[in-house]
Amino acid sequence: MESATGWSTDEFKRRGALVLEALGRFVEGSVRGEVPVVTLKPVQAFAESMDLEGLLEEGITTDEGFRAFLRAFLAGATRLHHPAYVAHQIALPHYASALADLISGILNNGMSVYEMGPTAGAIEVAVIDWMLDKVGWQPTGRNRARLPAAGSFPGGGVLTHGGSLANLTALLAARAALAPEAWQQGTSGDLVVLAPATAHYSMARAVATMGMGTDALVEVPSDELGRVLPDGLPATLASVGGEGKRVMALCANACATATGLYDPLQEVGAFCRDHGIWFHVDGAHGASALLHPEKKRRLAGVALADSLVWDAHKLLQTSALCAAVLFRDGRRLLGTFQQNAAYVLEGSREIGHDFIGHQFECTKSPLGLKLFLVLAMAGEEELGRNVGVLWERTRRIHDQIAARPGFQVLCPPESNILCFRYTGEDREQSRVRQELMGEGDFLLTQADMGGKRWLRMTIMNPRTDEDTIRRLLDRIEKVARDQAVTSG
Ligand SMILES: *Cc1c(COP(=O)(O)O)cnc(C)c1O
Repeated sequence: MESATGWSTDEFKRRGALVLEALGRFVEGSVRGEVPVVTLKPVQAFAESMDLEGLLEEGITTDEGFRAFLRAFLAGATRLHHPAYVAHQIALPHYASALADLISGILNNGMSVYEMGPTAGAIEVAVIDWMLDKVGWQPTGRNRARLPAAGSFPGGGVLTHGGSLANLTALLAARAALAPEAWQQGTSGDLVVLAPATAHYSMARAVATMGMGTDALVEVPSDELGRVLPDGLPATLASVGGEGKRVMALCANACATATGLYDPLQEVGAFCRDHGIWFHVDGAHGASALLHPEKKRRLAGVALADSLVWDAHKLLQTSALCAAVLFRDGRRLLGTFQQNAAYVLEGSREIGHDFIGHQFECTKSPLGLKLFLVLAMAGEEELGRNVGVLWERTRRIHDQIAARPGFQVLCPPESNILCFRYTGEDREQSRVRQELMGEGDFLLTQADMGGKRWLRMTIMNPRTDEDTIRRLLDRIEKVARDQAVTSG
């Protein structure tokens, strides 16, 4: 049968089978670890190896041509299934999530108004409710038309295209709570946001985007590993108060991107509560520990937050993107995006739920379907178990590195993020990383902490074992020695 896209559904199924076959081979090859984890070539080289200009001109017209393109594309793709992938904080996605991406790719049901995709809309509500429940907040109850208990208000939240947008949304909600007139009149110059220096850069971007200027992001005292020192908060508050500033929000990390360390949420939360300050927890990476019966103790106090950001595409085995911004009091979300969008919002809608008033995006992918299918097909327990496995593995890798002469670790890990370095200057660490990346056998990141540069790994793959790490350390030693010879 012909379809509107010019492809028959038979053609779709046939080419779909080619894609699945190619992806199957890609994953199997990656898992065996016998191929480079990363292939770093200049843009031009990839344009040539994939023949982009030729394909744009001649088109991909045959199955053989499509297969050839897939081969060239996948040959240069970064392999998260590879045991030597210890770099960025992005999930090794469950197949259920990939299938959700495929379903969404065909349906293209947008998530701004209910009628664009009512089943996906109901799923987003269900996923938000599930997350609220994990935090210890009241679900919205919208899926069950359930009334909240007397005197209490249900939580709220929305899925966003990424934690960065979720952080911006949380700060907009905080501003709407303290200075609702700002939506129309602009942000007055007396608002500040308090955060540790280790806050994710999306905080600074959010503050700058809101027209406050990054000077309005005021650093709170932290220990030598960048964790908020609750005892230092009164002095910071007094100091900004003395300058006539009003605190719009205080942000804490759960956990910090660079170090993987958790701020003391209980103490910081209690301070915020006592002073009537909006408490924002950035749990983009580490909130998933809520699923582990033991590891969740690092998040004790998270329920004191007014807002929480939680990415599913980091540690809930969900493909990018799928992030959530959650609110203890769901009413907080209502004033966040006050705007005149009468063409989509007008009239009273009795059926369903429009997201447009609660989110920055207009068209939005049905992000909830991905997490929902992972939850339904892998199970919440399995996701929690995976967090535990990654945390424990990182702990063992820490011990392994700490025991090796010439290597230094920043601190014992509290999550699956670990910083370490090899003898030598900061410059050496970066050069070693570049060299490893160029060889393609290992992929690491780096971070600056305590005035030093560290090599940084995020263990996202349970197949990354101590043997992988031993080979990595051998390699680092050799690269560093060779560099010393050539530069010496
Ligand atoms: C990854 C991360 C973010 C950004 O999330 P994206 O989904 O990549 O936009 C924000 N905060 C923290 C703490 C993170 O680790």
